Amino acid sequence: MEEFHALHATGYAGITIDQCIMEKNIENMQRFAQRNEVRLRPHTKTHKMSSLAKMQESAGAKGVTVAKVGEAEMRERYICTRCGLVHEITLSRWKCDCGGLLDLDFDRKDTDPAAWPKYPASIFRYAETMPLEHADWRMVTMGEGQTPLIVLDESRHGTYAKVDYMMPTLSFKDRGAAVLMAKAKSLGAGKVIADSSGNAGTAIAAYAARCNIACDIYLSDVTSPKKMAQVKAHGAEIRQIEGTREDIAAAAQRAVSGEAVFYASHVYNPYFYEGTKTYAFEIFEELGSAPDTLIVPVGNGTLLLGAYYGFKELLDSGVIERLPKIVAVQAANCAPLARAFERGESVAAPVRNNGTLAEGIAIAAPARAQQILEAVRETGGEFISVEESEIAEARGEMSRKGFHVEVTSAANYAGYLKYGIEEDETLVIPLCGAGIKSG
Ligand SMILES: [Zn+2]
Repeated sequence: MEEFHALHATGYAGITIDQCIMEKNIENMQRFAQRNEVRLRPHTKTHKMSSLAKMQESAGAKGVTVAKVGEAEMRERYICTRCGLVHEITLSRWKCDCGGLLDLDFDRKDTDPAAWPKYPASIFRYAETMPLEHADWRMVTMGEGQTPLIVLDESRHGTYAKVDYMMPTLSFKDRGAAVLMAKAKSLGAGKVIADSSGNAGTAIAAYAARCNIACDIYLSDVTSPKKMAQVKAHGAEIRQIEGTREDIAAAAQRAVSGEAVFYASHVYNPYFYEGTKTYAFEIFEELGSAPDTLIVPVGNGTLLLGAYYGFKELLDSGVIERLPKIVAVQAANCAPLARAFERGESVAAPVRNNGTLAEGIAIAAPARAQQILEAVRETGGEFISVEESEIAEARGEMSRKGFHVEVTSAANYAGYLKYGIEEDETLVIPLCGAGIKSG
């Protein structure tokens, strides 16, 4: 009890309890809360466990996390995954002062697929599950999402491809960009900055144009010319940076800090995952259940984590009974996560990118590595690494099936071909990007 008083005395006005580990202390906490007129909020979302663990450590109080909610309750808040500090959602906040990544916390209602409206034909059918006001997305959506799930392989019963390149900018990144830019717009952003290996840049540029918000996109000087042309066509400024993917991100972050503008990062900004989680909702609706397995290409994990969060919401709401197994595919020439997974490590040490044509997943030091590894492990999943020759072969095979996909999607298909599928296993792979975007 003493530590709770100590925390309250430091000015924290709200307290969050993780029920999984707090059961025996809940009664004490409730009495304490009543006496001090603070609000207790059950916190059972397991995908927040890593940040919770750190909060507990930093707060020095077993099983207790602390949320600085101020005088009035914050409807949404950022929580630092490293130190547990809670931050107000502001235009220029994108990381904690301690350098930690931010997760998003808001009062999630139970997810009820029966209550999802039929329209609009976009990811905003699920707007109820997102931290957005009704009006935020109306002038932002361009019909992203609601992509078809089709039979992939006649000879393998229960294998499906989700054709996520059928999007306004021809990649799955539109799911995240639409939500992220709706948020930027509602926060009154006059300008956004993003860095990308290509597809996220084209998506952010398009949605920034749709929102009439100025946009700078930081790209590698070797980004596919077609993607650069797409970014430029939307009126965004291109900043070409020579160096690694990490150098490009660092340059963008310096500019964000210098100009105090909105960082429309698909990696750092957790609103992006509120968009990519709809990938899971759509699969659930199309299959009428969760598949046994998802095979997903992973670089920064924007689709993997989104899919995981989406299925997690369905699980937490009692809609599905178990999470699909997540099988993550990396290019062998740049596979920090696959290596860490094999070694049983919880964080991924950066690797050298030895060069892969799968530019969308060529991430040598993924910022959310720990969360990605946790998600794959929690679902009983695995990693598969694919060689460049296997990727090239897979791309040809996809084209011969009628799908002209980007190299990164071909890498995922190569992973699927190596995966030991079992009889009657239901499996979904995404076709994330259109072949016409890359060389
Ligand atoms: Zn922090």
